[in-house]
Amino acid sequence: MKIISVASGKGGVGKTTITANLSVALSNLGFKVTAIDLNLTTPNLGFQFGYYLPEVGLHEILKNLDKLEKGIYIHSEGVKVIPGNLNIESLYGIDLSNLDKLIYKLNSDFVLLDSAAGLGREALASLNSATDILVVTNPEITALTDALRLVKIAENLNKNIIGIALNRVGRSKKEIKKEEVERFLGYEVLAEIPEDKWVVKSIEERVPVLYLNPNCRASIEITNLAYAILGTTYRVKQSFWSKIFSWI
Ligand code: ADP
Ligand code: MG
Repeated sequence: MKIISVASGKGGVGKTTITANLSVALSNLGFKVTAIDLNLTTPNLGFQFGYYLPEVGLHEILKNLDKLEKGIYIHSEGVKVIPGNLNIESLYGIDLSNLDKLIYKLNSDFVLLDSAAGLGREALASLNSATDILVVTNPEITALTDALRLVKIAENLNKNIIGIALNRVGRSKKEIKKEEVERFLGYEVLAEIPEDKWVVKSIEERVPVLYLNPNCRASIEITNLAYAILGTTYRVKQSFWSKIFSWI
């Protein structure tokens, strides 16, 4: 079982979007995948799958592991999701030491941990429980300096850094190039996920973009991120017609 912490340092760079859609991409390739929302104070992974107010969520499971089965939501095509509880009271009395026990009870090939922003207790819980770290960043200096701090912490914890998912590429004219990002962080950029209006639409519609439009540029690149994580050299390309339609 690979346990991947999807982490960043800076908030708003695309961790939740990538966790949700990378889960779908790996599931589409035939793997058993569970995505867990480790944003304990501000959970929002469930929204991207259309789960608003889960009856049982991560917070309750961490307090009582017997509730695990009830807190796993199986999305249409097989991805399992453990969303967070949204009520504030659920924050009290959480036992984070139960997280590892919970993960090892899951019968999955991949467990993806959607991390909190920053490098505080919540974010560290994700790094500590993971076997591998996927660093998400944007091609801009503030995101990169936070990503560098994350990289240093992950290295100190002796975690395997799989590489970098560079997200929202093409949003600004003055952005930092892939090669510079790799030199700055010292790891390979596995995917350059473009700024894509389909991502925004998918979040509005509460459906992962890989389901909403599997042929848009962001979906193609997230699928290629899955291939890169699997260590294969195979890559998919956007078809001619979907390129034309993406402009409409
Ligand atoms: P994080 O979990 O790191 O805080 P999110 O995944 O919630 O970040 O993304 C924050 C917002 O950024 C999303 O609501 C979405 O509007 C936007 N976003 C993320 N990735 C993309 C993308 N590739 N193209 C367009 N918008 C994006
Ligand atoms: Mg998030």
